[in-house]
Amino acid sequence: MKKRKIVLLGSTGSIGTSTLKVAADIPDCLEIVAIAANSSVEVLAAQAQETGAKHVALYDVSKESELRELLPDDVVIHLGPEGLLEVSRLDEADMVLVAIVGTAGLHPALAAIEAGKDLAVASKEILVMAGELVMAAAAQKGVSVLPVDSEHNAIFQCLNGHQGGEREVSRLILTASGGPFRKTPAEELEHVTVEQALKHPTWEMGRKITIDSSTLFNKGLEMIEARWLFGIEMGRIDVIVHPQSIVHSMVEYVDGSVLAQMSHTDMCFPIQYAVTWPDRVPGGLKPLDFADLAKLEFEAPRYDVFPALNLARRAGETGGTLPAVYNAANEVAVDAFCDRKIGYTDIWSVVEQVMDGHRVQDAGDLQTLMDADAEARVAAVAICDDKVG
Ligand code: NDP
Repeated sequence: MKKRKIVLLGSTGSIGTSTLKVAADIPDCLEIVAIAANSSVEVLAAQAQETGAKHVALYDVSKESELRELLPDDVVIHLGPEGLLEVSRLDEADMVLVAIVGTAGLHPALAAIEAGKDLAVASKEILVMAGELVMAAAAQKGVSVLPVDSEHNAIFQCLNGHQGGEREVSRLILTASGGPFRKTPAEELEHVTVEQALKHPTWEMGRKITIDSSTLFNKGLEMIEARWLFGIEMGRIDVIVHPQSIVHSMVEYVDGSVLAQMSHTDMCFPIQYAVTWPDRVPGGLKPLDFADLAKLEFEAPRYDVFPALNLARRAGETGGTLPAVYNAANEVAVDAFCDRKIGYTDIWSVVEQVMDGHRVQDAGDLQTLMDADAEARVAAVAICDDKVG
């Protein structure tokens, strides 16, 4: 394949470092031309040296001089929110991979599309909050949106060019590990601690997504992402619990055949496919040894115990500003839980209350979505404060 030049937003995080590992494995296919992070200047400087990237974006402007001292003079520093936009539009880049946690990746994602770059998306907020806008902008510009999240990447692989229309595809089936509380009795969940929720059985990930995996909000966010990414109604998106996390998701076709994508639980697999698509190239990743796999289990999710899934279905079916509200309220509730202000099961009730109190508007433009996000955060903080009081 022709060498692809990549801008990596969120390079110091879990997805970011896995992406750099992939880039190091297949140096003939990938070149990292820019990296970006919030404030981890030492890691950024080390990464700039390792990758040879000549552009570094730093969101936290207060750390500029610290970073400048660590970088050679020929590396350009881009600062603040504007800096993220600058690197997303770099002339020499072919693709921007967004792996920033939170909403800060939204504007850069749209800027990259606007500049004609392909987009690889890890940050859930992009498709959950603004999936309709992002996919419409990408279609208009004729650029590709490639999923990095393992489930969507799996579906993308299983669709293999099919569009997901009702005449061909019956359902998308997202697999969920079920998290650490898959078998925990409902009445014990209210006593779950932050430490327990941070112990994911199969994946090593950042803090927010690990908590979301335990509450199944992560799966809810993924249902909404899938709705926009593949242009498919919520009614045809299902979830199945699969504790081994070997099958990363499936597509059921109208003839009854189901295609599944499988690999070890290592984010380097979906990352490599997203950044090399449509090619497949050999890298450092080991295939499965089926003789070693003891068993693959599947079970229905406990919808009544984990309300995140039904709330997601409601948000995705209603559309407009409600998915943004679902996402924002959950972010606030997870922070409050991690700060030990609210209990574990309060996370669901905070989100539900904020959704109930929200007057849904059309997705319209990014500002409408950002306003809905901001309103939902204020409402969620107030509800969390009430619970503390
Ligand atoms: P981490 O918390 O590990 O890393 C977050 C990254 O974002 C860091 O590089 C951080 O920089 C950077 N960052 C945060 N805020 C800003 C900002 N305002 N401007 C620039 N950079 C910023 O998160 P993950 O890698 O786990 O997740 C990233 C995204 O990918 C999330 O949306 C997550 O939901 C999604 N995802 C993650 C998966 C995983 O396996 N980890 C799987 C699928 C999706 P700094 O180090 O300076 O703080």
